[in-house]
Amino acid sequence: MPGRNALFIPGPTNMPDEIRLAMDISLEDMRAPDFPGFTIQLLQDLKTIFKTRSGQVFVFPGTGTGGWEAAITNTLSPGDKVLAARFGQFSHLWIDLCQRHGLEVEIVDVEWGEGVPAARFGEILAGDTAQEIKAVLVCQNETATGVTSDVAAVRAAMDTAGHPAMLYVDGVSSIASIDFRMDEWGVDLAVSGSQKGFMLPTGLAIVAASQKALAAHKTAKCPRCFFDFSDMIRTNKDGYFPYTPATTLLRGLRVSIDMLLAEGLENVFARHHRLAEGVRKAVRAWGLDLCAKSPEWYSDTVSAICVPEGFDGNELARLAYHRYNLSLGLGLSKVAGKVFRIGHLGNLNDLMLLTAIAGSEMAMRDLGIPVELGTGVAAAQEHYRQTARPVDLKRAVAASM
Ligand SMILES: *Cc1c(COP(=O)(O)O)cnc(C)c1O
Repeated sequence: MPGRNALFIPGPTNMPDEIRLAMDISLEDMRAPDFPGFTIQLLQDLKTIFKTRSGQVFVFPGTGTGGWEAAITNTLSPGDKVLAARFGQFSHLWIDLCQRHGLEVEIVDVEWGEGVPAARFGEILAGDTAQEIKAVLVCQNETATGVTSDVAAVRAAMDTAGHPAMLYVDGVSSIASIDFRMDEWGVDLAVSGSQKGFMLPTGLAIVAASQKALAAHKTAKCPRCFFDFSDMIRTNKDGYFPYTPATTLLRGLRVSIDMLLAEGLENVFARHHRLAEGVRKAVRAWGLDLCAKSPEWYSDTVSAICVPEGFDGNELARLAYHRYNLSLGLGLSKVAGKVFRIGHLGNLNDLMLLTAIAGSEMAMRDLGIPVELGTGVAAAQEHYRQTARPVDLKRAVAASM
């Protein structure tokens, strides 16, 4: 089909041309004498994205899943107890990873559509007088259900309980798109990947560790080799890596960080919120519900939209793909068929989102879902118009001539 695929899955996301072109380069010598000049600054600037001064950032070839594994195996030992809530496919998979590494996971099952129950966590931690729980896991943005949890509230619950466990955050679909404050929230391990908010191809696991986590690393006994922090610490100090780094992706990451910092992190978060609000207004205009149960859980990076009884959300996504070259997110696991997802993170603007909303509308009509064409689009258009950043039109026109 001519034209571009409209990519609205919640990762991989749309890659800016600036990043793509920055990676259209010859391969390079990762032991070159001037390579550290590039890498040391890159690792330093990543700390700004994670909002940490005292932490250390590691970049591994891998994906977000590898980042989970790095965070867990570097800081815990088999048999250690960890506390986690399960409310979607990603929070579920992180728990599964912990169990496969021999950790004992205290699981709090929460309805899909809600997030981390900070108050319940507080009670459990307060009851853990022997302080057996070593880690508290938070999936900041559950990509399967479009639910964002309150990491600061979990930190507050831990502090109120006076519990010394470390705080681990899966920020794969939130960091660089939704506010994340590693130091302020006392996060010990933060995990991200390259293909979501960072707008890069898949291929990097980006993990930040606090000083407390690095101290725990010294005695943690989970087997590890590829993801060992110690090898990274030893070699990163001089700007090198323990094995061949993904140099091309690192060059892309340089541009990604530059773009995020040039826009300003707070502006990036505000843009995601504004675009997400447009999608939510469209969903309301269609008369449909989000999987997220209430506004406190609404995600600014992905919306999971419930299809009415009797319709299959995955069939809808298939139809949108074949008929309109529009990629929507499928419903995963427990919500397979019950929802479809619009990813709204990364390199996006108003008119791009309108494409996803218009295409979703058309596919819903094709499937027989009773939504009226144009209703969602009009609601989003109005929101984007009303909230558009004031532009000096004369100057904008002059600049375009
Ligand atoms: C995408 C995602 C992951 C998994 O990342 P991969 O890069 O696919 O391994 C983990 N957690 C969340 C919240 C995600 O959105």
